[in-house]
Amino acid sequence: MEFPSSLRQIIHVPQNVAIFSHRNPDGDAIGSSLAMLHYLEQYGHTVHILFPSEYPEEFEALPGASDILIWDLQPEECKQVINKKNLFIFLDFNALERIDKLGDYVRDLPIQRIMIDHHLYPDPIADFIFSETEASSTCELVYRFIDGIGDRAKITPTVGKCIYTGIVTDTGSFRFATNPTVFRIAADLVERGTDDTGVQDMIFNSNKEKNLRLLGHCLSNRMEFFPEFKTAMIWLSRKDYEEFDIQRGDTEGIVNYLLSVKDVRIAAFIHNQPTVVKLSLRSKGNIDVQEICKKHFKGGGHKNASGAYSHDSLKATIEKFKSILPEYKDKILAG
Ligand code: 5GP
Ligand code: MN
Repeated sequence: MEFPSSLRQIIHVPQNVAIFSHRNPDGDAIGSSLAMLHYLEQYGHTVHILFPSEYPEEFEALPGASDILIWDLQPEECKQVINKKNLFIFLDFNALERIDKLGDYVRDLPIQRIMIDHHLYPDPIADFIFSETEASSTCELVYRFIDGIGDRAKITPTVGKCIYTGIVTDTGSFRFATNPTVFRIAADLVERGTDDTGVQDMIFNSNKEKNLRLLGHCLSNRMEFFPEFKTAMIWLSRKDYEEFDIQRGDTEGIVNYLLSVKDVRIAAFIHNQPTVVKLSLRSKGNIDVQEICKKHFKGGGHKNASGAYSHDSLKATIEKFKSILPEYKDKILAG
């Protein structure tokens, strides 16, 4: 990727910057946003981060997280902040629908945009687009963006901690979506003082008792296997949400337990969130769940990790998911 000198000029002269990332922000969304903020602030930029919805509680420990503006909680404040900006940076998403009402608000504003992302099929929503679908994470791309501009020395332990967070969460601790570069980047981050075990602690040792009880409930009472299609599913009802007091981020990672079963090649987690039914699909090897999410549920993501929302009932969504499996049987068994 070429980083033009015009881009370097934009980054090296203080601007009023808004960073945006996607609904239900995950470790990569928040890590890339905060890494970019802490990098840009070294050049005197005024930076705000805006998300459509809240981020999981464990990431409150990341430096700067408490200043992030959330449209769902404070839309007027978000608008006021956006109105003062002269540079937008879109991180970890590639279509304005992914930022909901924030997307509607900024769509027609005549403001310069940079997009850095690793999802499939990017929309042309920015003037400068750094999109690599083979990258492990947007955080990997943020590292390479900073490096490409010639600013590796600006990757402080704070920037490193945020970048490492997104790499660890999007690769499931270097288990999938890896490539040689991301291991080199991880080594460089640790050499630069990133507290890698601290990041692992923040992400994986921050459960509450209720998270483990919810996991137990999912594995004991809400799990179904479809061996003919090498597929497994966990579902949660609205009642489960109440009973287990499920909050943002509490269901993160549950779907991966299904993939730990040797013969399972597709894992589905279908849950009735308070306002919408959410579908998360994961796969092993060559099976493309992005295609399934896009074709049948208007969602998207990556080949091995994709998501979608459904406005049908939980039951109808589960039935629909089951009914499409025969269409993919040959691919599943071959993949
Ligand atoms: P998750 O299942 O963890 O919510 O998401 C898995 C991946 O798919 C993430 O990279 C996420 O950004 C993407 N994703 C989740 N939901 C949607 C959706 O509704 N539309 C699109 N385009 N991508 C999604
Ligand atoms: Mn990501």
